[in-house]
Amino acid sequence: MQRQAGLFAMELWVTEKQTPAVGITCKVIRTLLDEQTDYQHMAIVETEQFGRMLLLDGMVQTTEVDEFVYHEMIVHVAMNTHPNPKQVAVIGGGDGGTIREVLKHPSVERAVLMEIDRRVVEASRELLPSISCGLDDPRVEIRIGDGLEHIRNSENEYDVVLIDSTEPVGAAGAATGLFSPDFYRYVGRALREDGIMVAQTESPFYNQDLIRRTQAGIRATFPITRLYLASIPTYPSGLWSFTLGSKVHDPLAVDPASIKSLDTRYYTPQVHFAAFQLPRFVEELVRPAAAVEGGM
Ligand code: SAM
Repeated sequence: MQRQAGLFAMELWVTEKQTPAVGITCKVIRTLLDEQTDYQHMAIVETEQFGRMLLLDGMVQTTEVDEFVYHEMIVHVAMNTHPNPKQVAVIGGGDGGTIREVLKHPSVERAVLMEIDRRVVEASRELLPSISCGLDDPRVEIRIGDGLEHIRNSENEYDVVLIDSTEPVGAAGAATGLFSPDFYRYVGRALREDGIMVAQTESPFYNQDLIRRTQAGIRATFPITRLYLASIPTYPSGLWSFTLGSKVHDPLAVDPASIKSLDTRYYTPQVHFAAFQLPRFVEELVRPAAAVEGGM
């Protein structure tokens, strides 16, 4: 509280405990939504620094100010590596940001969103319009349910699958299966013969075991497995990783001239390649049979 001319002006701050010992704290202007859904606690708050912020089980999912980094980077690397992506699946991603970026590619005929929690989609439509704005596009199909089940029942259907999930934790733990080797095998089967997947794989500072496990799981199904990085201020440690698995096309073998010019603010043809340049400690982390133990 701050004393102002004899009155107390209340200040509200929100903290995400990113590890048991580290948190990110933002000043809140107002709370727009605070509810328990069937799957998780959901809040949308308006922050001074990052605009509107979606939190699930107390963890920041997206903010109006820095969402462009995450959504552009989870989408455009794979979409520009595949020569003609027509059928795309997004698993999780109920806020709609990933779908919005997928739709920037004119080759896309159908984009299927597989989100477990209907309320995330509804609340994002209502309170995060700049992020969810693609959800009403006629190419978009929204299926509410467990993405793992949807993908398990697909075969040879998609050119690109993007796994935009919550962390594999939380009371309901709905996303745990989305980080398992079996799931990556189902994704491999759901993809066509030259299909590509990308999963968000958390922070190289705080989630080293998860990165090692997902590398091994994706590598078991995809002959080309590559991790890349982006800088996202509101995500734990600010440095975020994505892992791409591909059956045929190598993101590093793309002809830079073939990369489409898109309306983006983070992703560029240069960033496409630069994102794969890894600091040594991350390189060691993704080396097969990585010898590095523990996390920070
Ligand atoms: N960009 C975010 C991040 O890295 O924090 C992820 C955002 S998006 C809102 C994550 C979504 O995944 C949530 O809406 C959650 O409900 C959904 N989700 C979690 N497990 C799922 C599952 N098994 N199937 C489909 N969606 C799932």
